[in-house]
Amino acid sequence: MKNKYTVGNFELRVGKSGTGKGLFVVKPIPKGSCIIEYVGVLVPEKNLETINSKYLFEIGKNKTINGNVPYNKARYINHSCKPNCEADGPRGQVFISALKNLKAGEELVYDYGEEYFDEYLSKGRCECQSCKKTSKSK
Ligand SMILES: [Zn+2]
Repeated sequence: MKNKYTVGNFELRVGKSGTGKGLFVVKPIPKGSCIIEYVGVLVPEKNLETINSKYLFEIGKNKTINGNVPYNKARYINHSCKPNCEADGPRGQVFISALKNLKAGEELVYDYGEEYFDEYLSKGRCECQSCKKTSKSK
């Protein structure tokens, strides 16, 4: 049986997205596939307060990785309140997997979670595609 957290060999493309850069599907990806691992460097706890990175990912109790490294393609994945991916993983690892069948050209998005909003969007509002659509129709 294939492990749930075995990263598939999927072609992904970094491209222009509504809010900057995003990560896009090149060939269709079936639902449930493990697409990419979110990798980075482990941040010592004492540095957490001073580090200025939007790519911090808490992976467990007192364990945070900084994904702001060139080899971490997953850092281009944007937030959405209507995600097509989820971030999850065993023992200090983060994997991005598909919540639905993804079409070629689709942008990968997952829900960054409440903490992200507290940190970065406390004064602004969510800029994700699905929120923009809702605010326009009001
Ligand atoms: Zn949103």
